[in-house]
Amino acid sequence: MRFLSVVTVAEAVREGVRIAPATVTEYVLVEQSAGRVLAAVITADSDIPGFDRSVVDGYAVRSSDTTGASDAVPSLLQCMGQIAMGTGGTNLVIRDGECIYIPTGGILPQGADAAVMVEYTEDAGDTILIKKPVSHGENVLLKDEDFKKGEIVFRPGRRLTPQDAGVLAACGSARVPVAKKPLVGVISTGNELVPVTDIPGPGQVRDANASMLAAWLSEYGCVPKLYGIVRDEREAFEEIIAIALSECDLVLLSGGSSKDERDMTAGVIAGKGEVLIHGIAIAPGKPTIIGMIAGKPVFGLPGHPASAFVVLIAIVRPLLDRMLGLERPLLRTVKATLAQNVPSQRGREEYVRVRVENNVATPLFGKSGLLNTLVRSDGLIRIPAGYEGLEMGSDVEVILW
Ligand code: AMP
Ligand code: MG
Repeated sequence: MRFLSVVTVAEAVREGVRIAPATVTEYVLVEQSAGRVLAAVITADSDIPGFDRSVVDGYAVRSSDTTGASDAVPSLLQCMGQIAMGTGGTNLVIRDGECIYIPTGGILPQGADAAVMVEYTEDAGDTILIKKPVSHGENVLLKDEDFKKGEIVFRPGRRLTPQDAGVLAACGSARVPVAKKPLVGVISTGNELVPVTDIPGPGQVRDANASMLAAWLSEYGCVPKLYGIVRDEREAFEEIIAIALSECDLVLLSGGSSKDERDMTAGVIAGKGEVLIHGIAIAPGKPTIIGMIAGKPVFGLPGHPASAFVVLIAIVRPLLDRMLGLERPLLRTVKATLAQNVPSQRGREEYVRVRVENNVATPLFGKSGLLNTLVRSDGLIRIPAGYEGLEMGSDVEVILW
């Protein structure tokens, strides 16, 4: 077969998701949970707070005792003592005409139903002048007002934030069930490639893809494992793929994915397993391979860094979303208006790099092999396969880098 028989982006994504390895759950310390994807429902193990508490420094009162209080005519309440933090055993009860000093977070004494901020009071020895009325429940957080015991606090699929870690801790989750980070092997192929540390000789280029893919994978919540550069030689190729597959959950190869005879990624995958897809109606990125060897996904990405990156985001990412159990992709998007017409070939989904300024997206057209547009752009817009382009002034959604 000389030409690629292409499938749609939707088909390729569906195939990738279908062969995604199952999510594995592991437990991490709550203080290390930010950025991880929650893998189970989290419920509150007790009422939060566990008791009625003041949210101000001031005096616990019966609100009815403060009715009409003002600077000119304060309510005079007798101070019965003070609430100590962290203990419930004061047994202090206040009756009509009484108050108790209470710090922020202190347990509300029996008989009290509100707290007056200290700023609106004056200490006159045993008597406290209350200069502002409070209503029932004012400045008080009721027991279980935040979360009730057994209430669902978080659902799986959420990427946890530092704030979430705080709430998880409050709920008693010292160890948090999260999706294990997928271990992704990265292999670069091509006789022309040299390591980053080398000065390229004539005809040589530095391996940019491995670093780019690994950096993106780390940021996306995976663990990349680099296997270096492999030459376009079948034996070496087979060997490195076998090692990577034995160690990783999936493997990404870049370069050598087209139908050129030196490009043998497809041949090697077919020899060891199965090529499921070879060719996707996407631009850039058409010569992409999705295969399986020994039950593990193997992707052959195009060699051009920009193409490899687009395929990573558009095709590989949904598989990783599934593995991570994400409820929605971790992509940031922004709505913008297109600054000029963008032509596109009907029948393929096109990804165009754009700059975004003040919600105006300006396409950056460049030769496909250029690296600079990857970093001079802010993100990508997607032109669906059924379109012959997008007109100036169209509303677009930009997938930000
Ligand atoms: P290929 O897909 O192997 O035909 O490669 C297409 C283009 O991408 C060629 O110009 C390669 O030199 C270039 N290329 C392939 N792999 C890499 C890589 N890892 N880093 C930078 N450029 C690459
Ligand atoms: Mg090559």
